Amino acid sequence: MIIQRVVLNSRPGKNGVPVAENFRLEQSTIADTVQAGQVRVKTLYLSVDPYMRCRMNEDTGSDYLRPWQLSEVADGGGIGVVEESKHDNLAKGDFVTSFTWPWQTVAILDGSLLQKLVPQLVNGRLSYFLGAAGITGLTALLGIREKGHVAAGANQTMVVSGAAGACGSLAGQIGRLEGCSRVVGIAGTDEKCSILVQEMGFDAAINYKKGDVAKQLRELCPGGVDVYFDNVGGDISDTVISQMNQNSHIILCGQISQYNKDVPYPPPLPPDIEKIQKERNITRERFLVLNYMDKQEASVLQLCQWIQEGKLKVRETMVEGLANIGAAFQSMMNGGNIGKQIVSVSK
Ligand code: NAP
Repeated sequence: MIIQRVVLNSRPGKNGVPVAENFRLEQSTIADTVQAGQVRVKTLYLSVDPYMRCRMNEDTGSDYLRPWQLSEVADGGGIGVVEESKHDNLAKGDFVTSFTWPWQTVAILDGSLLQKLVPQLVNGRLSYFLGAAGITGLTALLGIREKGHVAAGANQTMVVSGAAGACGSLAGQIGRLEGCSRVVGIAGTDEKCSILVQEMGFDAAINYKKGDVAKQLRELCPGGVDVYFDNVGGDISDTVISQMNQNSHIILCGQISQYNKDVPYPPPLPPDIEKIQKERNITRERFLVLNYMDKQEASVLQLCQWIQEGKLKVRETMVEGLANIGAAFQSMMNGGNIGKQIVSVSK
């Protein structure tokens, strides 16, 4: 059977900026027959995520991420529908997902590696299982629960960087649901800031590309910062950390501003900021959602309940067509997305 697939065409280099042309669409073939235990799936949605930048390097710098090889089909979070099954627990028409879904239109996969999805849990919005009801929502929820020390009634102020992105937009809302009294976002455009406040219930948002971030933060967080959900690292984080309170907590989710640089993860703080962190006893422990998968089932149900109740507002930036997945990745790394960046493959 003839299919379309996307392979890694070239590497941006450890200190390079990734571009759409680092990926290549090509025609390929898969077997016409499905073996015992396998299913043939049609791809519906693919996720593009910042961690994929590391997979574009020869060495990802982490033991849990495998580098993509040149001319090898890329993979990541994906959702599809079963077209033919020789697996006992999966039938034609079932919707399924995997963290290692190949970037191709149709694939033959090992059925035991797929998770079955229940569309009703997300009001039929299947793609949410890649975002708010998937690894992104889990990252926001478990990051806050495991590292945030948020307590209802404690009058805590939370700041979120990368706030209009996939994790950030959920983290601010979840921070509020879990008990923070004030939530302030930092994002890269006025439109994003307005959505955070008007749609997602943030108390305020700062466009870090305009004006003095430190000054705005001081005005918007007069009692200092108690919890910082850090998606970006770099200068923005240094500014936030310098306004954090004694015994406060950083949720070290990601450091996207450093991903095009050859630095270790997590990148060390500048000496003056590290001094503040130590003197004020600010926790900054590494957080990796994959270490908490024993909490996945209960946490996904919690996220789905909030979505159904309208307590968690979800935004997606949907790009049509497998041919555009490289461009979608490039755009997300440059701030082109609001909420989760998804590629729709079926149309
Ligand atoms: P995302 O925020 O949806 O997309 C990336 C966003 O980051 C862009 O839209 C852009 O928005 C912002 N950005 C890009 N370059 C920046 C820079 N130099 N400085 C400041 N902001 C920049 O991505 P996501 O999926 O939600 O991931 C957010 C972070 O969480 C990433 O660091 C990712 O690696 C991490 N993550 C961690 C885990 C974990 O287990 N720890 C799991 C998933 C994701 P602006 O317009 O605001 O610049």
